[in-house]
Amino acid sequence: MENKVISDIRPFNMFGNLYFVGSSKVSVHIIKTELGLVMIDTGYPDMYEQILSSMEELSLDPKDICAIFHSHGHIDHFGCTERLKQLSGAKTYISRIDNDIVNGTLDLSWAVELNLPRMPFFDCDVLIEDGDVFDFGSTSVRCRLTPGHTDGVLSFFVNVTDGKEELIAAMHGGAGLNTLEKSFLDKYGMSTDVRQVFIKATEALMDEKVDIVMGNHPPQNDTVGKLQKVSEGKPIADSSEWQRFLNHIINNTIEHFKNEQ
Ligand SMILES: [Zn+2]
Repeated sequence: MENKVISDIRPFNMFGNLYFVGSSKVSVHIIKTELGLVMIDTGYPDMYEQILSSMEELSLDPKDICAIFHSHGHIDHFGCTERLKQLSGAKTYISRIDNDIVNGTLDLSWAVELNLPRMPFFDCDVLIEDGDVFDFGSTSVRCRLTPGHTDGVLSFFVNVTDGKEELIAAMHGGAGLNTLEKSFLDKYGMSTDVRQVFIKATEALMDEKVDIVMGNHPPQNDTVGKLQKVSEGKPIADSSEWQRFLNHIINNTIEHFKNEQ
């Protein structure tokens, strides 16, 4: 392939039909299903060549992408969506709420804060509500609204398999505190109440049974550590990682803002 751009995290098969093709900046996951490839998030706009190179290394054909899900409407999660859609004809999915960001109704894509040019705006094909489930053959993507980081963050729960064992892989769709900072909220006329909304929504995910944590960004699930394990032939499933991660987010949020309330 021309313009081969190598990711700073080697693309890898996390488990069975679950793959990582993102970089250290932001995660991009793929689940291989009977109906095609289901992608979760598409990275920054400048990651297009890197994502294609990563997929090539794993023998995943970008033309086979049938669905693109978005964890939320920030530019680092939908940056390559339009180009990947053009290439594959994939259907695009986002929460109904955050579609207003990607279509430009709400100017909250975080592009301004990153000094990135605003994207050409687009509407996604499928607008997701809390609790919606989408089936791709025997693979189901279950979506739970987890507001806070944006109003329309979605967390995903997906059954993945290596043909012998079926596990649940899950992602908290928006755990960053950047959009909960007072400076950001003031700038857009928003209330600090979203911090409580975020904590409550995150607590609500606590009773989910999860075997594999997918990071929205690689540090969240120690993606590099998982790559290391996989390359040593060790399993990455860990039935308590999800609850540890959610507790970490909640405690970190309380600690971070404790002097502001
Ligand atoms: Zn974000």
